[in-house]
Amino acid sequence: MKKNLIMCVVLLSLAAGTCRAAGSPAGKFYAEGDRKKAEFALTYDDGPGYITEDLLKLLEKHGVKASFFMVGTYVRQYPDRVKKVAGAGHLVCNHTDTHMFWPKTGKAPDHEAILKRELERAEAAIEKASGVRTTVLRMPNGYDKPWVRQVAGRLGYAIVNWTYGSDWTRLSEEKMTAEYLKAVKPGAIILMHDGGGKVKEKNLRITEAILQEAKKKGLKPVRLDDLLGLRAAAAAK
Ligand SMILES: [Zn+2]
Repeated sequence: MKKNLIMCVVLLSLAAGTCRAAGSPAGKFYAEGDRKKAEFALTYDDGPGYITEDLLKLLEKHGVKASFFMVGTYVRQYPDRVKKVAGAGHLVCNHTDTHMFWPKTGKAPDHEAILKRELERAEAAIEKASGVRTTVLRMPNGYDKPWVRQVAGRLGYAIVNWTYGSDWTRLSEEKMTAEYLKAVKPGAIILMHDGGGKVKEKNLRITEAILQEAKKKGLKPVRLDDLLGLRAAAAAK
């Protein structure tokens, strides 16, 4: 009887994903790093896209590592670019398979199953292209609900949003650049796009400006797993 009870607890724990190594970030939500550390993160969504390779050259020139939230559809379209991003030492992350509009899809009766499939398909595509097994998720449009954290957690994902992003808005490039530079501070998570419909060459110019500003402010751009301390914990996946 007691044995059965113990077994039940173990199974329930596994089902809930609570059996992960202590300190696992799975199911945890982050939107900012430590404000007391002189570090911040550059993140790029919806790729790989047509500026990805130019962006890699720019980051390499500055000796900087960033994080790329990729969409399964584009990963299958441009597997070489995924491989290059991973090979250059950047963090490759999951941005779902088809970038659905979750305020709507989230209302479907089988929304949990849809999300699970969206995460698993993107993960498989990224792994096939680059050998990387993703452990960091950003939902399309930053969609965040308790059930999303649960599904992500069960699949071993930490969820990361951002502190500032505006490259999809109608701001002029001048104003946009100024706002991005203001947002470069300790613990910041900067969002831009290197793929999808929101891509413009201006994102390369803004990245260059941000990197100059970071140097001036003495801030180091790091990968999200370093900014948020996810690296050791992710190894448990
Ligand atoms: Zn997106």
